[in-house]
Amino acid sequence: MSLQIIHARAYQQKDTTVALEDFLEVSEFYCDTIQGEGVTTGVPAAFLRLQGCTLNCVWCDSKSVWRHGNRFTFNELFELMNNADLPRKLHEGQHLVLTGGSPLMQQDKLAAFLDEFIKIYDFKPFIEVENECIILPDPAFTSFRVFYGRMVDLWNNSPKLYNSGILRKYRYKPDVIKYMSLLGNSWFKFVITYEEDDWGEIKKDFLEPELIRKDQIILMPRGETFEELKKNQAFVVRTAIENNVRYCTREHIVLWDTTTGM
Ligand code: SF4
Repeated sequence: MSLQIIHARAYQQKDTTVALEDFLEVSEFYCDTIQGEGVTTGVPAAFLRLQGCTLNCVWCDSKSVWRHGNRFTFNELFELMNNADLPRKLHEGQHLVLTGGSPLMQQDKLAAFLDEFIKIYDFKPFIEVENECIILPDPAFTSFRVFYGRMVDLWNNSPKLYNSGILRKYRYKPDVIKYMSLLGNSWFKFVITYEEDDWGEIKKDFLEPELIRKDQIILMPRGETFEELKKNQAFVVRTAIENNVRYCTREHIVLWDTTTGM
């Protein structure tokens, strides 16, 4: 039996009835910008950043944002989105990027919120999820629905390497990584520095055990500031070319440096 069929059944058995008074813990929301990283770099995008993360990477440049947040009821979130004219913008092609921290820490409520969005506005936007590959996604995100297919259109997975400063036992979850890889609409974006043997680690921990495919890999330079990005990027481009995998920059850092919420 395929993964998708198991998921479809599990989803049918779930009671997804929610009240609009249900809530999400939100760190920030903004739209009319671009996706700065990964395979959809440059696509117009809106970001919903949820509070909290499973990890605490040494070079994380969003931790000052995801550590804080406020409780928003679904109604309040819809109001916020309406005020920004977001439904129209999403309908016209902006991607909705669910990010954090770790959005899957609130996945039950997040799935319920997206279901409500689709019911109210009568369409499903293109949804991307940033995922550090620690938590298995709920079937609500991965199973096929009759009218629009899968809830999540793109998984921007970013498993962390030694250079994150996180102990391996906390950041390396082979079962989750393999599961994400098999979903099909998954990319694996690795933050690379010139100081460590990051490519050696990717080969040993991800490719040799066949957790992911090489054509799912994106190498991205570490760079919390434009200066630091410049320092790493030539090395990372070379590593990507030598190993025949995709490279991406951090376009928001190139454009706006350390300013957040752009
Ligand atoms: S997993 Fe992502 S959001 Fe969480 S600490 Fe690491 S870089 Fe930051």
